Amino acid sequence: MTKIFIDPGHGGRDPGAVANGLQEKALVLDIALRMRNMLLNEYEGVQVRMSRDKDVFVSLEERARMANSWGADYFVSVHINAGGGTGFESFVHTSQASRTVALRNVVHDEIIRALSGVRDRGKKVANFAVLRLTRMPAILTENLFVDHVQDASRLKDPNFLSRIARGHAEGIAKAFGLRKKQQQQQSSTSQSTSTATSGNVMYRVVTGSFRDRENAERRVAELKKAGFESFIDVYRP
Ligand SMILES: [Zn+2]
Repeated sequence: MTKIFIDPGHGGRDPGAVANGLQEKALVLDIALRMRNMLLNEYEGVQVRMSRDKDVFVSLEERARMANSWGADYFVSVHINAGGGTGFESFVHTSQASRTVALRNVVHDEIIRALSGVRDRGKKVANFAVLRLTRMPAILTENLFVDHVQDASRLKDPNFLSRIARGHAEGIAKAFGLRKKQQQQQSSTSQSTSTATSGNVMYRVVTGSFRDRENAERRVAELKKAGFESFIDVYRP
């Protein structure tokens, strides 16, 4: 089991950065909850705990204590920047432990990939309390600037918050070698077809069975129109 501790910054009486009608504490909680769901729903062998899952104040020492006493494998603190600038940057502690740096490099690059078009401000170090007090590898991410007009308009889009979460989740999965859960699709007459490969095994998804060839061809035409590769396989039930 890989234990991932997600730490949405600020909360309660501490709103974090505030500008353009946005509050850091609400944005990072939204991103963190999306991350948790992605990790738990899509990956095997992972446990997630959070320093907060609602709008409450938690001290920096308490955040680190929770992760330490749980024995987390990774501590991920999520923040939004302010103070003039644009883009994404990540931090590890100034001690720069080699495993911490290696994990950060993977996670940082996946987030940048998920946020195409956003400026990469770089991989940085800082003596932040949560990075200093945690006993496991830790990263702190600063995801765009609330006080930058274009960044703020991106942060107002739930799809963009989902992309931030996606970058974090995929970065964590890659860094820790988490395996994707097998996708299970229910058979129904209107589902799409797809074939996924995993190693040397192939999984075929059947979208429908028809007694009449014409109906089968109509379904194939519909799927192709929708962008799904498909073909007719004849069999005798
Ligand atoms: Zn912050």
